[in-house]
Amino acid sequence: MEKDSGFLSVILDNIRENIVIVDAENYEILHANQSFVETYGVPIGESRKKRCYEITHRIEKPCHKSGEECPVRQAAETGSVVKCVHVHKGISGESRKIRLAAYPVRESDGTIRRVVEISEDITEQERLQDEIKRKSDLLDNILKNCPDGIIGSDPAGKLFLFNKGAEKIYGYTAAEAIGKINAAALYPPGGAREVKEFIYSEGFGGRGRLQDFETKIMSSTGRLIPIRLSCALLHENGREIGTIGFFHDITGRLALQNHLAESEAKFRTLFETASDAILSIDENGLVIMANRAAKEVFEYPGHEIVGIDFRRILGSGQEGTWEVLARYASCPETEKFVESSAVSRSGKKIPFHISVSENISDGKRFFTAIMRDVSQIKAYEEDLQVLANTDSLTRLFNRRQLYPILQKELDRAARKKIPFSVLLIDIDHFKQFNDRYGHAGGDLLLAGFADKMRMTLRQMDSAFRFGGEEFVVLLPETAGLEAMVPAERLRRFIASSRFPMPPDGQPVSITVSIGIAGYREGDMIDDVVRHADLAMYAAKNGGRNRVVDYEHLANTESP
Ligand code: GH3
Ligand code: MG
Ligand code: MG
Repeated sequence: MEKDSGFLSVILDNIRENIVIVDAENYEILHANQSFVETYGVPIGESRKKRCYEITHRIEKPCHKSGEECPVRQAAETGSVVKCVHVHKGISGESRKIRLAAYPVRESDGTIRRVVEISEDITEQERLQDEIKRKSDLLDNILKNCPDGIIGSDPAGKLFLFNKGAEKIYGYTAAEAIGKINAAALYPPGGAREVKEFIYSEGFGGRGRLQDFETKIMSSTGRLIPIRLSCALLHENGREIGTIGFFHDITGRLALQNHLAESEAKFRTLFETASDAILSIDENGLVIMANRAAKEVFEYPGHEIVGIDFRRILGSGQEGTWEVLARYASCPETEKFVESSAVSRSGKKIPFHISVSENISDGKRFFTAIMRDVSQIKAYEEDLQVLANTDSLTRLFNRRQLYPILQKELDRAARKKIPFSVLLIDIDHFKQFNDRYGHAGGDLLLAGFADKMRMTLRQMDSAFRFGGEEFVVLLPETAGLEAMVPAERLRRFIASSRFPMPPDGQPVSITVSIGIAGYREGDMIDDVVRHADLAMYAAKNGGRNRVVDYEHLANTESP
């Protein structure tokens, strides 16, 4: 018997379930197996003297006296097996869920004095089940509410999953789709086969996967909708059980992309065909981007202009312009326009009108400079200036220029005691030529006369058309009497010249009367001019074709 009980004990200890044999009358534990001892943390020797409620419930009174059913008692009383789930206390007093069965042991006399309780701790199992259920609910929720379309199909193409997102994109309800529509019918003809081929190929996210693939699906109304699709094959025990696909409608994005590409192309064309040089410049003044006109005018082919300091383009001495422009650019009220020059790679200096605006992109400040080459305008301006100062017929300075130039000379004479003289020249009997050769003939004669005059003057002398056929010559650094030399030279040269006249180039000769006035201390401009005029009239009166110096005139006239 002893041997038998030892043998039984070994068997019981090797059973995974908790097994305990309880005295049906006083609930004393008669035997507990290894598993039971470990579950409740009771040393084997001690457990024998304990009552089962002390160990499993950690209470002082039997369960039925503590308001709970006792399966041992029930089994003993009814003589049948009692199965239930009870809450026990674990090693550290924590609640454990226990599924148990109490077996009454009938003695040979028919009485029941012992009950065998076989139990299993199902706490962890239930926790796992809860966890699985929670996860599965969560997954269900995600699948249901995910804005992306999600579709699952078996290897034959039969749908088993069709979420709300899919309903929205396709226009089928899940009820209409699941088990009824074949996955191939969700694509335009040939589309499903193509997707399948790509899933099995290596190219799009590896074999068995398809990642971010753009294709078209066919809605319930036959409309083709562009989508972005990711798919994966599903396996169970190494066997392919279907495909799951995630996708979203990219109609809006494609439209936006097209729109963007269009406006980008428009901008590019505008940028590249602009005749103004356009440069993007970063906050540090370095060129980020430049259009064709900029590359051409500054002589940087390809991308060589990128990274060049804009201050270098402005040229030495103009570096400060960049600071001014940058300041203007960030101040919206001001006129963002500066007239400056810039220098090409080969050192050519070019005048520009530069306007700069400030832009922010990706949180970074940068500038756009639009530079208009104003060389042509400048040249016109200079031409205009010359025109405004020049007599168009004789190409000599006009009368308006005489006074400021004369004033300068006068100031110099007064300040530095440097003398100067003025000649006043009048063509003799000019009216005759007009009468004989017409006004145009007279004009030709005036132009020819101006040419001759230019030929006899020194570099430093300047000649002016004073009026009709009257001229003034300014002789700097020439005292009154010294002026007689160039005046006489001019008179003789003119008298000896021949001027071809229309219509057949008949040569005529002319003479001039010249009055000289030297600057005298205290003279104003008008004094000098008046003196020259008086001397010129004296020359006329003296018989023309002659030179009279006012100095000489004044001396002879004064008493
Ligand atoms: P002198 O000076 O010797 O006394 O005789 P003159 O014939 O030159 O006398 P006057 O000064 O009176 O005449 C000048 C003439 O010059 C009068 C005008 O018709 C003519 N004249 C003035 N300006 C122009 C011009 O631009 N073109 C032409 N063709 N003739 C002009
Ligand atoms: Mg005259
Ligand atoms: Mg005259």
